[in-house]
Amino acid sequence: MEHIVKNSILIIEDNKTISNIMKKALEADMSVEIFQVFSLDEARALLEQKTDFFVAVMGLSLKGAPRGEAVDYIMSKGIPSIVLTGTLDEEIRSEILSKNVIDYVLKQGVACIDHIKKLIVRLYMNQKIKALVVDDSRVLRAHYKNLLTTHQYQVIEAEDGEDALEKLAGHNDVKLVITDYHMPRVDGFELVRRIRQKHSKSEMIVIGISAKGNTLLPAKFLKTGANDFLKKPFESEEFYARVTQNVEYMEMLKKLRDAAIKDPLTQLYNRRHFFDVGERRFAESKQHRTPLTVTMVDIDFFKKVNDTYGHDGGDVALKHLSGLLLETMEEESHLLARFGGEEFCILSKGFDLGAAQKFFEDIRTRVQASSVDYKGQTIKFTISAGISDNRHDTLQGVINHADDMLYQAKAGGRNRVVLPS
Ligand code: GH3
Ligand code: MG
Ligand code: MG
Repeated sequence: MEHIVKNSILIIEDNKTISNIMKKALEADMSVEIFQVFSLDEARALLEQKTDFFVAVMGLSLKGAPRGEAVDYIMSKGIPSIVLTGTLDEEIRSEILSKNVIDYVLKQGVACIDHIKKLIVRLYMNQKIKALVVDDSRVLRAHYKNLLTTHQYQVIEAEDGEDALEKLAGHNDVKLVITDYHMPRVDGFELVRRIRQKHSKSEMIVIGISAKGNTLLPAKFLKTGANDFLKKPFESEEFYARVTQNVEYMEMLKKLRDAAIKDPLTQLYNRRHFFDVGERRFAESKQHRTPLTVTMVDIDFFKKVNDTYGHDGGDVALKHLSGLLLETMEEESHLLARFGGEEFCILSKGFDLGAAQKFFEDIRTRVQASSVDYKGQTIKFTISAGISDNRHDTLQGVINHADDMLYQAKAGGRNRVVLPS
């Protein structure tokens, strides 16, 4: 089932200036909805209507609720909380942190807003990250799970290494594994080894947890392929620091990888990646004699779109078409790339000419029926497509043939799909 990403944030702060600055800063980088209230009573009234906040930011002392009453109330509703305060008193700090709040931030200058924003962006993104917690102790599993869900991760559990491997087979979107070492059937090391046969360190983070006393375990976990380790017992702050650091590392690598293989405007694969993956799929289809098609898609009279709406309007049209193509095509079967300008190429595994014709006819009609808003205007356009199949010896041969078919579609009047007769 698709996990629902929450996008509402609650701000409880009686200083309106601070509240407004925070609202602005948070809205700038995320598509979130901010709810501002200025007292605990207002917060209570709002929560009667709405509770699906992924985080709340609140002043520790508010008018009418001077001693953290708002924190207790919001925590009792199960909403992760970030607490703002005017003074950084060690005693208050440890009392607040013991309530399992996300963080405790000194209300001071722009730096604190930046800090809060970073925390909230992290929580917002964590909602899309699935974690697997592996431990034979039910109590510890529940503890790790609770730590992770507080930071908004999606969490599933396994009771030993073997169970973990089964869970991973059923959930191919797990990005983070926290695993104990000593477990029945398959232990922590064996689990890491088996995970690494399939997933690299940048695709799946594994953090090993090693028992007290055994000083060899951390090194062995790392050598087996774990990204990091935690030594029992550990503070929750260390747990979060290690998890966050590794998640950020993984995201940075993904960004770098995407920059090399994706087109920045549309986020579709680029031509080079198309050939890297496409040559492999083409060779497989030759070897196993399975069907495959290549389709060239090109926007009709795109120059006119640019002339009428400007280059930025043209870019919006390109993004609109890319989005439509992306949501129509499953990555498993379709390799979709932007080849250049307003030209796209799709290699479809398991498709014969008939299937491709039906599929792209459907896309062609949907594009024709759709439109995109740009500065109060409505941009509409059509596409032409040329299809070929793997009757040729090389992938380039198939592409050239599909290009010829596209040329025929243009010559025949555009807004049509053409395949070899
Ligand atoms: P046809 O129906 O024959 O395909 O005509 P067309 O005008 O769509 O095709 P043509 O290839 O003559 O023009 C494509 C135009 O696309 C020319 C170029 O300026 C524009 N273009 C290329 N890349 C981009 C881009 O990234 N953004 C925008 N806005 N325009 C682009
Ligand atoms: Mg064109
Ligand atoms: Mg063109």
